[in-house]
Amino acid sequence: MKAAEDKAAVEAAVRVFNPSGRSAFVIVCDHASNHIPTELGTLGLGPEALVSHIAWDPGAIEVVRILAERLDATLVESCISRLVADCNRPYDAPDLVPERSEMTAVPGNADLSAKDRERRIKLAHKPFHDCIAQVVSDRLEHGWATRLVAIHSFTPVFMGVARPWQVGVIHDEDMTLAHPVMEALAAEKQINVGDNEPYSPADRVYYTLDRHARSLGLEAVMIEIRNDEIRTEAGQSSWGNRLAAIFGGIAGSAQNRDKEITNREGGTIRPGAGGVRRQTVGR
Ligand SMILES: [Zn+2]
Repeated sequence: MKAAEDKAAVEAAVRVFNPSGRSAFVIVCDHASNHIPTELGTLGLGPEALVSHIAWDPGAIEVVRILAERLDATLVESCISRLVADCNRPYDAPDLVPERSEMTAVPGNADLSAKDRERRIKLAHKPFHDCIAQVVSDRLEHGWATRLVAIHSFTPVFMGVARPWQVGVIHDEDMTLAHPVMEALAAEKQINVGDNEPYSPADRVYYTLDRHARSLGLEAVMIEIRNDEIRTEAGQSSWGNRLAAIFGGIAGSAQNRDKEITNREGGTIRPGAGGVRRQTVGR
């Protein structure tokens, strides 16, 4: 592939929304898109599979955009399907480039050579993580409070088993963020909240947060919303606003938050003039 084309492919892999957001929260959405780069065709899948949860987290990006806007938070979203390379898996995970996803075989992912795997990483995984790393390191350099929130959606029935939780809060041993989020969600009686359900870090689904937050001692939490809750615009808006109210409440009481905003409003750091590299900014 020619260098210019290669660059274009890589640039389209990640998007930063609101790079100068004032919130302490940085939101990441690993599975925001079901887009497959042209060079990979359809990976041998039919149209139905390509819009299903095996290709992405349906509804997640709509929720996340509302959340980022309401919080005035920076959002980093992947623009490539998890079937190309799953951004929320370590390089050595067997399902980094899944040959089978739930009950569907992915022909285009079968028997990949090491070179093919490298290509997948370059197309999807590396640009996404390079971008988050840059956003986080720029913030830390400026002394801005930084907490990471990853938003995902999950399928209501997996391998024939129904999942009762409308939402899951996924966390490691540091529950600084997870605890108040779970409490606020559980206060709404009609919501069944999963504590490290339907997944937990032991399932290797905490990769992005481990890499960009926990390894640096930053607080993090992952929210999994059951995707039947966010199929419609009304559902997406309801969850986006609900999470914005919850995270807004936590941010308001967090240490450094006021100091951070004062510094930025006081002119020592001008919003938009910081070192956060602007990539494609859009909605
Ligand atoms: Zn996901």
